[in-house]
Amino acid sequence: MQNEVPMTNQVGYGMSRRQFLASTSLAGAVGLLAPRALFGRNDVVSAPGLVEKARNAAESATITVQRLRGNISVLMGAGGNIAVLPGRDGKLLIDAGFAGARPKIAEALAGIGSDPIKHLINTHWHFDHTDGNEWLHSAGATILAHENTRKHLSASTRVEGWAFTFPPSPAGAIPSDVFSNERTLDLNGANVALKYYEPAHTDSDISVHFTNSDIIHVGDTFWNGYYPFIDYSTGGSIDGMIRATEANLTKVTHKMIVIPGHGAIGDKSQLASYRDLLAAVRDKVAALKKQGKTLDEIVAAKPTAAWDAKWGGGFMSPRMFTGLVFEGF
Ligand SMILES: [Zn+2]
Repeated sequence: MQNEVPMTNQVGYGMSRRQFLASTSLAGAVGLLAPRALFGRNDVVSAPGLVEKARNAAESATITVQRLRGNISVLMGAGGNIAVLPGRDGKLLIDAGFAGARPKIAEALAGIGSDPIKHLINTHWHFDHTDGNEWLHSAGATILAHENTRKHLSASTRVEGWAFTFPPSPAGAIPSDVFSNERTLDLNGANVALKYYEPAHTDSDISVHFTNSDIIHVGDTFWNGYYPFIDYSTGGSIDGMIRATEANLTKVTHKMIVIPGHGAIGDKSQLASYRDLLAAVRDKVAALKKQGKTLDEIVAAKPTAAWDAKWGGGFMSPRMFTGLVFEGF
């Protein structure tokens, strides 16, 4: 259990801030179906190797395919959730997963249909959603994303939370088409509406709404059933996450299927629970911080205790999530 690791491995108890952030966010990047044992107590402090480990773990990942509706499926298990829409215009993928999972992703895609891979949209720039960009491009996909995804993939980009500096991506992995606010596509008989969030999980997050089938992929603004990672290095914040979730709740109806960046396929009621969680923890931590309490003291006060049973079972432990919320104001 992550909560049971020695205190020296936890925020505020002898672990540097960088190590703390590394342990939180790399865990999230691996994808929720990766073996938790990967992040045993010895690994938690070896931050520089964690991006590599996340990529390596993808090679042994199990990919599951879940059929939704309107001919749309989702692939889970190798980074962020990947939505797939096949058809006469060629397959459209929402997010690329880890490159190391290529053989299994390719196999899953072939199982969905024989159409060639033609279109890829990235929900944001993080490597667990874009690592496969290069191979998918080589297989025939043109890549579309928010302009900040192209910016971060084009340059050397540091994520303090992962104690890792990503080098510029290879040319083929960089989106050739970008937008700043919104874009609408007509592919495979589906209307696909893309919309930029203001900075939330990063400064490059978009939603992808299949309007005919009423399915929306909301990227890493939503972790269904798990405390989320928030990337402050590239514009994310707890308040941005709450705003993005409010925006999702405004758009999502009770009939809509919601694909989160991580976690199981969800719906409006789960989004509402997630909004309540984020807002409540934010307010608790803010109140304690306003009283002048340190991060150590706030962690010791267990401000997430009421939610841990439901949301704390993933890679983001209650302590780690508290630290990310603390950083936000
Ligand atoms: Zn992310």
